[in-house]
Amino acid sequence: MRKNNLIKISAQFMLLLILAGCSSSSNFPLFEYPVDWKDNDARTKTISDYSQYLSGKKIFLDPGHGGEDRRNTNKKGDVIEADVNLRVALYLKKYLEQAGAIVFISRDKDATVQLGYRSKLANNSGADLFISVHHNAPGKTEDDYTNYTSVYYHAKDFNYEYEPCNQDMARYIERDLSYVMGNPVGLGSFDGTYSDYNIYPGEGFSVLRKTKIPAVLIEGGFHTSRLEEMRLNIDDFNQIQAWGIFRGLGKYFRAGIPTISPIADSTKYESQKLSLSFSLNDTSGINHKSISVYLEKREVDFQFDRDKNILTIEVENLVEGEYPVRIICANKNGNHALPYHKSIVVTNDACVEIRD
Ligand SMILES: [Zn+2]
Repeated sequence: MRKNNLIKISAQFMLLLILAGCSSSSNFPLFEYPVDWKDNDARTKTISDYSQYLSGKKIFLDPGHGGEDRRNTNKKGDVIEADVNLRVALYLKKYLEQAGAIVFISRDKDATVQLGYRSKLANNSGADLFISVHHNAPGKTEDDYTNYTSVYYHAKDFNYEYEPCNQDMARYIERDLSYVMGNPVGLGSFDGTYSDYNIYPGEGFSVLRKTKIPAVLIEGGFHTSRLEEMRLNIDDFNQIQAWGIFRGLGKYFRAGIPTISPIADSTKYESQKLSLSFSLNDTSGINHKSISVYLEKREVDFQFDRDKNILTIEVENLVEGEYPVRIICANKNGNHALPYHKSIVVTNDACVEIRD
């Protein structure tokens, strides 16, 4: 008898526990407010902390779709990707401007902007960086559970047109954005950054391919997901998304970007032998293992003086002409220099000129 009663009591207790578990899960918050955002003073302080890295930076924002292109929605049709992208981009613009950045935007309202025109606007704007803001959808329309945060860069790391600085920026944005959203980074990548060749092999996204400044495309989350569709129309959540991107950008610039500059009196061209040197600079120092040099798209040997941070290239049997040169290097924080593409012009009167 006694034993039966005990079993009965423990069964009731278990049921209570299960019910308590259910009720607490229904109260589980849709998202958390970041500690450096929910309080006005903390927000102002964070913006001011990052302003030393963001002030004066020229950033082009591109909220995807809009106008005639409003077809990407959740199943019910009340979460419209174009509108979510715009809200996030406008809040991001506000935070960046408060930190002293100069912000350009491809649209600031619901308007049609052709894809090719977005890159054209960015290329002509004088901006340093391009950030396209999107939200994702799965390949299968019945899939309402897939959800992760990803940031795309152009090409793959073994392609000549791949620029490692794009993936650096993608990495920083991804980390803080997925963190504030509480989203995973997806199973197709270890850090949530993805090549656009994964979607369109050999071509990538037109908006990344045609934009000539460092560029990334953010897929904030899946507007088709049962979780994301409950959050993406909440204004606070859009502000928090923008905050994640803002913080990621601040940290990207804080990690420093190396510079590459030719040393004017170092160039020599004699008996078809070219020699020239470049100074590589960064406050955290240059990672010598990160350096590669291309002449006419072919990797060439070089010397690097690790004390003076001077890179020297020597090429023999080079007839007079114009040669594209490309240099890649990263600092000790892992951030790469912005794309360095120049033209070396050599003529038989021992003249060497470096052109843009
Ligand atoms: Zn989109």
